[in-house]
Order: sequence, then C-alpha cells, then structure tokens
Amino acid sequence: MCKVLVLPGDGIGPEIIAEAVKVLAVLNEKSVIDVSIDNGLVGGAAYDAHGHPLPEETLVKARDCDAILLGAVGGKQWESLDIAVRPEKGLLGLRAELELFANLRPALLYPQLADASSLKPELVAGLDLMIVRELTGGIYFGQPRGIRTLDNGEREGFNTLVYSESEIVRIGRVAFATAQRRGGRLCSVDKANVLECTELWREIMSSLASDYPDVRLSHMYVDNAAMQLVREPKQFDVMVTTNMFGDILSDCAAMLTGSIGMLPSASLDAKGKGMYEPIHGSAPDIAGQGIANPLATILSVAMMLRHSLDNEAAAVSIEKAINAVLDDGLRTSDIMSSGMTQVFTSEMGDAVVAKLA
Ligand code: NAD
Repeated sequence: MCKVLVLPGDGIGPEIIAEAVKVLAVLNEKSVIDVSIDNGLVGGAAYDAHGHPLPEETLVKARDCDAILLGAVGGKQWESLDIAVRPEKGLLGLRAELELFANLRPALLYPQLADASSLKPELVAGLDLMIVRELTGGIYFGQPRGIRTLDNGEREGFNTLVYSESEIVRIGRVAFATAQRRGGRLCSVDKANVLECTELWREIMSSLASDYPDVRLSHMYVDNAAMQLVREPKQFDVMVTTNMFGDILSDCAAMLTGSIGMLPSASLDAKGKGMYEPIHGSAPDIAGQGIANPLATILSVAMMLRHSLDNEAAAVSIEKAINAVLDDGLRTSDIMSSGMTQVFTSEMGDAVVAKLA
C-alpha cells in the first residue's frame, strides 16, 4: 500500500483537493490503486493552528509518505506576517527539506479548449510540452546574497548564480529520462554566451547525452527560447533549464494554454518521491464559492500515479476521464465558452469520478 499525504492548504485549496480525493477514492474502490490517505496542515491554515506554516508534525508526515498532494497556500490575511512565517514559507520549506529539486511542469492544451489561448488556435492546437525546471539551486539560493552599502554611500543589491556539477547532472538525468518517456527530444535552455555558470550547464548536458542515445539533445539561449515559445511552441517536446529561467519560461508556457485551472505540476526528489500540486495559487477572490476548477489538481493526481506510485495505467485513465468530461461540454467558469454547460467545482469532480466508475 502507498501512503499519500494530502495538504489542502488555503483559499480554494480545500475545495479542489476534495475533488482530487474523490478520484483517489474511486480508484481505490475499483482496486486500480492501493493508496492510504493521511491529512496535514500547511500554509496559512497551519499558521493559524500552530503558529508556523510548516509544523513539525506535517514535516514528519511528509518525510514518511510516498507522495504529497497539495492544494495551494496563501491569502491576504497572512500577508502582513513576518516573512519567515508567511504561508509560502511552508511550501518552500517542504521543497527544501525533502530536496524536491526537479520541477516538472507540463503545458498541454486540450483541443476542446483551444479557444482559451491568446495565441492563434493553429499555433497551439495539440500543444504538449514539458518544462523540467531545477528547483532547489541556482540564483534563488546562491550565496552570497543581500543588499549592502558601498563606501560611497550607494546601496548595491547582489545575488549569486551557482550550480555544482552534481546539481546539473541530477536535473539533467531527470530531463533525459522524461524525454525518453515522451517524444525523445530535449532542449536545454541556458545563457552560455554570457554566464559561465550556464556554460558549465551546457557542457554537462552535452556530456550526459551519450547515456541517452534515443534522445535528441539541442541547446538554446534563454532569450531565444522565450521568443520561440510564443512563435512556434509546438517545436518543443521537453525543455530543461535553471531555477530562474524555468520560473519565467514555465509561466509563459502555461499561459499558452490559456487556462491556469488546467495545469498540474510535480516536484521530485532523487528517488522519484514527489509533491504534486496545481500550478495556480489559492485564488482568494473565488474561495468559498464552489466555482474553482478542480481539474489541475485532479491532473496532479495523474502525475503522482505516473511519477511516484508507478501506475501509468491509472494515470492514463484519469486523463482520459477528463478528456471525456470536456467532450461532454462541461466547463467550470474559468474555461466556460458559449454552448457549453457551466458546472460547479464538485459537479466537475463528480463527472470525472462517474467516467472512472
Ligand atoms: P492565483 O493563481 O491564486 O489566481 C490568479 C487568478 O486565477 C485569479 O483570478 C483566480 O481566481 C484564478 N484561478 C486560479 N486558480 C483557479 C482555479 N482552479 N479555477 C478558477 N480560477 C482560478 O494567483 P494570485 O491571485 O496571484 O495569488 C493568490 C494567492 O495564492 C497569494 O497568496 C499567492 O501568494 C498564492 N500563491 C500560491 C501558490 C501555491 O500555493 N503554489 C502559487 C501561486 C500563488
């Protein structure tokens, strides 16, 4: 039996997680999976209950489970707190404590939702790309960092972009393996013409390629990659890049699909244990109304089954069920268009469960 820790978090987190848990329950009932579910607090909810966004009890459970399913954290009521105890620290703490260094962010456009993109339908129809972002290193974590005052009295801000060989190798291997499972093409994105750190990145990515003869590796500078993502996004299969470049490019790729409520993500450690969550936040503006789209969270369950629980068949069955529900014309308000049937969060979850049952 696999152990899954469910962390609903804040805002719409509990609403969307409830639908994902329904999906796990029906798959358990049908013996497609064998999963036990435990619950925990993270983010603002954890701060309110325990005075910290990542209580020790949650961390212990997180270390002990096979995979984590997270809703979202954050909200206005916690924004004035000291930065060390803000909800987002709960999320960053989990990533750092569990060494979840590999962030997988698919950008997949369901043909039924092609109108939702801001790009022309022919540019994005059938879009299916995966960005592998390094998540625990690079300039977001490099030392030294800070704001200092110079001798002339002027202030200066500074950060350090640093990657060790081993950090590049481990994210590289995740990316090559991901490309092997998909279309066999990997584009490594860097700024090797200007930054020595990413010159090393490019050299190491190239050296790994001989271990993966079935993957075609290419390199691209990040400025060009940003341009190509909006010019011809379907040229990409898998992209691998540093923490900051990945942060920016993955948001850009996500918006090609036009709907933040449809995109899941995975953050994995070296053994494939992972934390799975929708890419969106806690959406305080719609929390409590029952209108949030639960599909990104349900798709996160599919990613969890694929990457941490070794059950590809169950993952595919969820993805097929979602396709079927979209074919039936069901839409939450964020993806609603004329001629479709608007449904609430729980109705969307029930419809997916009905397809699976
Ligand atoms: P957001 O993603 O929460 O919301 C952006 C917009 O998208 C809002 O209009 C929201 O209503 C809509 N939206 C988001 N998810 C949706 C869904 N499933 N269905 C329908 N509509 C959806 O981003 P934000 O407003 O910038 O941030 C709100 C809070 O979330 C902040 O406290 C922020 O720090 C936090 N946040 C958390 C995470 C996370 O937990 N991983 C990520 C991003 C932001």
